[in-house]
Amino acid sequence: MNEVKTPKKPLLYYYCVAMLAVVLFNLLAMPWLMERSIHQVDYNTFVSMVDAGQVREASIQEQDNLIVFIEQNSNTVYKTAMVPDEKLIQRLLDKNVSTSGIEIEESSFFMQLLGWIAPLVIFIAIGQFMSRKMMEKMGGGNSMMFNMGKSNAKVYVKSAEGIKFSDVAGEDEAKENLTEIVDYLHDPSKYQEIGASMPKGILLVGPPGTGKTMLAKAVAGEANVPFFSMSGSEFVEMFVGMGASKVRDLFKQAKEKSPCIVFIDEIDAIGKKRDGRLGGNDEREQTLNQLLTEMDGFEGNNGVIILAATNRPESLDPALTRPGRFDRRVPVELPDLKGREEILKVHAKKIKVSDEADFQQVARMASGASGAELANIVNEAALQAVRKGRKYATQSDLEESIEVVIAGYQKKNAILTDKEKWTVAYHEIGHALVAAKQTNSAPVQKITIIPRTSGALGYTMQVEADNHYLMTKEEMENKIATFTGGRAAEEIVFGTISTGAANDIEQATKLARAMITRYGMSQDFGMVAMETVTNQYLGGDTSLSCSPETQTEIDQQVVKLVKKQHDKAAQILKDSREKLDELSKFLYEKETITGDEFMKILNK
Ligand code: ADP
Repeated sequence: MNEVKTPKKPLLYYYCVAMLAVVLFNLLAMPWLMERSIHQVDYNTFVSMVDAGQVREASIQEQDNLIVFIEQNSNTVYKTAMVPDEKLIQRLLDKNVSTSGIEIEESSFFMQLLGWIAPLVIFIAIGQFMSRKMMEKMGGGNSMMFNMGKSNAKVYVKSAEGIKFSDVAGEDEAKENLTEIVDYLHDPSKYQEIGASMPKGILLVGPPGTGKTMLAKAVAGEANVPFFSMSGSEFVEMFVGMGASKVRDLFKQAKEKSPCIVFIDEIDAIGKKRDGRLGGNDEREQTLNQLLTEMDGFEGNNGVIILAATNRPESLDPALTRPGRFDRRVPVELPDLKGREEILKVHAKKIKVSDEADFQQVARMASGASGAELANIVNEAALQAVRKGRKYATQSDLEESIEVVIAGYQKKNAILTDKEKWTVAYHEIGHALVAAKQTNSAPVQKITIIPRTSGALGYTMQVEADNHYLMTKEEMENKIATFTGGRAAEEIVFGTISTGAANDIEQATKLARAMITRYGMSQDFGMVAMETVTNQYLGGDTSLSCSPETQTEIDQQVVKLVKKQHDKAAQILKDSREKLDELSKFLYEKETITGDEFMKILNK
């Protein structure tokens, strides 16, 4: 959409314009006017006028090679170029022409006056103009200084290439929810007739990059109304009261343009719970108060709909989420398999892709990716194609770009020693073999031991066959076993262990902990929550809510659980030691093997 920003000019700008006007006037206009008031004649005319006694005074300006003279009766000023003329003085004396005392300026008193008055008039006019502007600003918000307190909301006016719902793939539930708003903006009377009022505020919640901003724009695009967008952090200024005045200004603008959409991104920047602690953030609280007041202030049916996005809904002030304010919450979750495929297709339209590309397969591989990451994967594939000198992106470009987005670029100059390479190969096959041997685990898609810029020396890409919404206890245990499979392989084969398992250890521990403290999957604690998730959409940090004794016991249980799965993994590998060696050798030689190649060797 076209983005139009309200122009803002600093005070200095007006001063400069005034100065420039005065300088230009004196430099160009004045000489021009003076020029116009002096008549130029040729020397012959001058001589004949003198001879006819028509000249009263004359001034000879030798440096300028000029004679300026005044006519006897009309006081008109003339000038003429000087011509070598020995009789000139005599001629003037004969006719009693006064030869001193003329100055051009004197002859044009009006011009001189103008030279003084014009700048004054310009200054006064600009002064008036500016004070009127200032008054306007003071009215709009009680700002103390010029540009402060004015909202700098970006306004997207309707345009042909506006974002539509069709540009936002997946997210069907969210779109369905928002369709009602579009319908309302199209025809409010239908709703007003029955007395229904639209929610004033709608909160879009979900992890970063899932298309919240896009959805808000799409609502405006579908309804064909102006779209004001501002980020929560833009309200927060250094001075207390500025943010509040920006909120006032934003709503004033919005009401003028109603019906319209106001979008506040990252609303948690201003909408955080007020904790009432001394020395709290006064500015933020004032801004929030102002927002609450504004939302109460306009009637349900005036056509301004506020959409706000956040990925920390739990941190919002309850006053903000109560009915009558942001009373509707639209979850914008990470896309599922079908959603991922659709998002890939939407973005693939922007690049040239080979017909053989299998987006479903790519979507399967990119499990857990957000819309923004998928957009990035498609773009990365196009870049890859250019790098390889191709005219379009292929399936392998798409697959490689998933790895780039997940694990970083291939490290070209990382040189592993032979021993390290063997260790990595066994480690990765360890994961894959344990995963494959446990029937419930997802099949392996690809195993590689090419180091990546993220620091990973190799990895096993697993693929979810279907959408998974629930995980059973056994599946979780199997997953832990798979995580420990890498280390188990190292132990069995080399009899020693390396640092390569740090990430596996972290993930296995996290999973085991969640099983015990949150999912009630331990016998001793049963269905008691020992941990609460504080940051659902941003990494899922947790905070413990149990006594120190219980904490100790939880730790012991976590250790026990992980150890049990580790032993299980080790047993699986010992039982298939031959396959482990064969597969590892194959991987060592080829560096990257596909899931099919792996399964073929395994089932031989
Ligand atoms: P958020 O506001 O949730 O952080 P954005 O709306 O800014 O995310 O999305 C960032 C980018 O990701 C978009 O510009 C778009 O290219 C891509 N994207 C995210 N979700 C989708 C989707 N559902 N369909 C198409 N593209 C998407």
